[in-house]
Amino acid sequence: MGYILTEEGFQDALKELRKEYRIFAPVRKKGAGRFTDIDAVIYDEVEEGSPIELEEKSDYSAKEVLTPLSETLFFFTEEQCKEADIDTRPVLLFLRSCDLQAMKRLDDMYLHNGREQDWFYQRRREKLHYVLIGCGHSYENCFCVDMGANITKDGYAFSVDKIDENYRINVLEEAVRSAFAASSERQEEVVPRHVTENEVHVTVPETIPIEIVKHPLWDEYNTRCIGCGRCNYACPTCSCYTMQDVYYTDNGKVGERRRVGSSCMVDGYTNVAGGGQYRKTQGERMRFKTLHKIRDFRKRFGYDMCVGCGRCDDICGEYISFSNIINKVAAAVEEMEKEGSKNA
Ligand code: SF4
Ligand code: SF4
Repeated sequence: MGYILTEEGFQDALKELRKEYRIFAPVRKKGAGRFTDIDAVIYDEVEEGSPIELEEKSDYSAKEVLTPLSETLFFFTEEQCKEADIDTRPVLLFLRSCDLQAMKRLDDMYLHNGREQDWFYQRRREKLHYVLIGCGHSYENCFCVDMGANITKDGYAFSVDKIDENYRINVLEEAVRSAFAASSERQEEVVPRHVTENEVHVTVPETIPIEIVKHPLWDEYNTRCIGCGRCNYACPTCSCYTMQDVYYTDNGKVGERRRVGSSCMVDGYTNVAGGGQYRKTQGERMRFKTLHKIRDFRKRFGYDMCVGCGRCDDICGEYISFSNIINKVAAAVEEMEKEGSKNA
């Protein structure tokens, strides 16, 4: 059963929920965008009275709550190590369908990728409860429908759709129900909105032969891509990180180890001891990123990593479009198949 709330009722419900949960959601930061007169919509903890941005797509994704850009894992002295404490209160995290689907990909990468689970990820993950933000329309560059990430039917505590002045809430986790029941105007069936059509379409080939790595389609990115890594930082499914040991200046043998977000597109990421570098050119890096998103992850987990949120296209200063790259791969695969059948 769902609930219909006014603005005041919704704020009362959040106030009630804050007694138990911390709330993280997209918020508007004035003038924090690319230029000083452009706002940024990013994730932050929402305190009482702060508005949640429910209309615009966020510039960066919800992954920053689960995998912070910089996270201290442990402290070390000459003799001992101590894991860094985290806030252990449960968290309600507002996110759209594509981002919730992206979280499932992160779960697979950190928790179901071999024998060991990532303990530091797990301890944050088990505190998280998702709040699904319904999408009333598609946004610029979204291609979630073709990636199958446009609809989420379960795995969230409650959903929220703001339509006109009303908040429409569908509750799936009983623990949050009383907060809405107490503040609602009325009860009725609520189905979260989702989009069924995007302007942007992609065709992901069912199989991508490994020969695609030698195709000339990657070459244009040697000059077009500047290797800034913004596409990776904005992407809800990119999870590359690096480790940094920080030594305190007053005792050089004492310090902390941090996990810091990184990017497969930036210089230095594939540097190895002895001066080697696996992927030197931006074309090679683009090839690696693309095939991980639509080929290699699927080989391991059975579905594609990319959820079609379009944030990489939104944020790229060089106007490089990932949906275009997917379609270029599809065309190249078709051309390779035709060549193959001619030569057979
Ligand atoms: S690759 Fe681009 S479209 Fe796909 S999930 Fe990442 S940011 Fe979204
Ligand atoms: S594709 Fe665009 S955002 Fe990504 S590294 Fe290249 S220039 Fe930067």
